[in-house]
Amino acid sequence: MRRMLLRKLFVGLCVVLMACCFASMAEAEKGAKPNFIIIFTDDQGYQDLGCFGSPKIKTPNLDKMAENGTRFTSFYSANSVCSPSRAALLTGCYPPRTGVTTVLFPRNKNGLNKDVTTIAQMLKQKDYATSCIGKWHLGHLPGHLPTDKGFDEYYGIPYSNDMTIDPNAALAKDIVLRDGFTLEKMKNVKPSKNKVPLMRNSEVVEYPADQTLLTQRYTAEALKFIRKNKENPFFLYLPHTMPHIPLFASEKFKGKSERGLYGDTIEEIDWSVGEILGTLDELKLSEKTMVVYTSDNGPWQLPGGRGGCAFPLRGFKFGTYEGGMRVPCLMQWPGTIPAGKVCDELISTIDMYPTIAGLAGISTEGQTLDGLDVFGLMTGKTKSPREEFCYFKGTGIQAFRSGKWKLRKAGRKAELFNLEEDISEKTNLAETNPELVDTLSKRMAELQAAIRSKK
Ligand code: MG
Repeated sequence: MRRMLLRKLFVGLCVVLMACCFASMAEAEKGAKPNFIIIFTDDQGYQDLGCFGSPKIKTPNLDKMAENGTRFTSFYSANSVCSPSRAALLTGCYPPRTGVTTVLFPRNKNGLNKDVTTIAQMLKQKDYATSCIGKWHLGHLPGHLPTDKGFDEYYGIPYSNDMTIDPNAALAKDIVLRDGFTLEKMKNVKPSKNKVPLMRNSEVVEYPADQTLLTQRYTAEALKFIRKNKENPFFLYLPHTMPHIPLFASEKFKGKSERGLYGDTIEEIDWSVGEILGTLDELKLSEKTMVVYTSDNGPWQLPGGRGGCAFPLRGFKFGTYEGGMRVPCLMQWPGTIPAGKVCDELISTIDMYPTIAGLAGISTEGQTLDGLDVFGLMTGKTKSPREEFCYFKGTGIQAFRSGKWKLRKAGRKAELFNLEEDISEKTNLAETNPELVDTLSKRMAELQAAIRSKK
């Protein structure tokens, strides 16, 4: 009897021990999956951070992020306007493969192609918690919203803040109406610029959105999401509405910078970054979290210095000179990404998808991607695998970079620049290098044929 009891006790102990062992194995596996945060500003110029040389905009938190991480100075957005740039970042493909090659408006009914996968959809394979907070701009109708594209939750404006509301938008029962709007008035609303809906998941919760509070609200939502998921792997995609025009800052930041309202919006975003990084530190998540900060495209060209600044780059948003697509980029991941380093090697937003897939242990086999896994470059262990980059305008390649050379074919005359010696694209070397122009033109045509538009 006693022996039987002892045997039962022994078996019971073994079961408990095995359960503990499996639990800790699962825990170890969980710990191996890093968190990912991508902070994506809208139309922020290459120079518009302290650590990228802004003489007037103060960004102490971003500067600290640069000290604690790596500053990438040849980092490219895959388009010079909002929607295709976002499509490329989230799918690892050049815009023509994604189905989004131009800016979407409230009248548009489309979004991302069904056969491309977003980073969020990919990470769901490994049970990541996923959240999109901010400006989506990849289709505002059911089927195209963030919650249809791998994000567990969404809070933000569905497109640019200078747009209006689609009269067919789904409204929440407890929608907050402002500026004298009523439900009746909304049904008959004529397109009115700069009045955009604020959405939670698939419904409009406020109209028009109080744009002075967007950065504050996005930040509060982001901190809530991080805290809620501190025990499990997460992906936070935070595409800010600012500094896209019209510009808005909260009372705390309005009128405070030396660079007008534009500077105020960046300084408020800088505060937001400080809140996020501070929360990661407080929760002891910094060493488990890769944080990327960059912009979707170059700055607006506005009179009186009201827009952003891409100095020393030539050009602005909408264009394929460097100022339209080379964007400021910071990456932080203590213990993994070197601190205080500056990297001038070629890298792009499209490289985020395969890099994140690799880090999460997810295979991309069988998928057509234009992005490359750049983890070795990020950690400072290898050179960039990226030797070429296509500057798309709509469905066509308008410029092409190969190493230090950039060929641009926008007008009648081809332009050839040596970006290593001439970052400002001042001297056209095409006439004196016809053979190189020919070689690069052929490669451009090859890539154009390979990356055909699906639309
Ligand atoms: Mg933009």
